[in-house]
Amino acid sequence: MLDVTNHGCFHLYVRIRTAMPLVGTSSSGQFSCASTTSHTLKDLRTKRKGQPVFVLGHVLERKGHEAIFEVFNDRIALVKFADGATVGYDPIELLLPTDIDENGVAYFEIRPCGTCDILFSLTREESESDQEPPECPDCR
Ligand SMILES: [Zn+2]
Repeated sequence: MLDVTNHGCFHLYVRIRTAMPLVGTSSSGQFSCASTTSHTLKDLRTKRKGQPVFVLGHVLERKGHEAIFEVFNDRIALVKFADGATVGYDPIELLLPTDIDENGVAYFEIRPCGTCDILFSLTREESESDQEPPECPDCR
């Protein structure tokens, strides 16, 4: 598990690999990854049940964990964690994966912004390039 509660004090470098349950899907292609225009669940026009996300947000003991999007309850996105707990988040607090492989395994390449310190997901192209972006999409 990842401790991001004091991420201002050290250089955070996260690389996570977790198998996600693929509820009601036949291929991983249904779920979205970070792109130049989509960074969080909020940016997705279609938010599919089972979408893997990386949780920031307000619940400290859950911060920096992975979960899967379940459903919207009003404007709160309910996500389910591996231990079965369901927590509601603002969709802007839910980062999209960098990549999802053919087995439905979600990969998160999470970096802190050099300017505003917020955590953000690299896109697949960014993670494969020699020069990773030093700033979050909003600061670029
Ligand atoms: Zn930033």
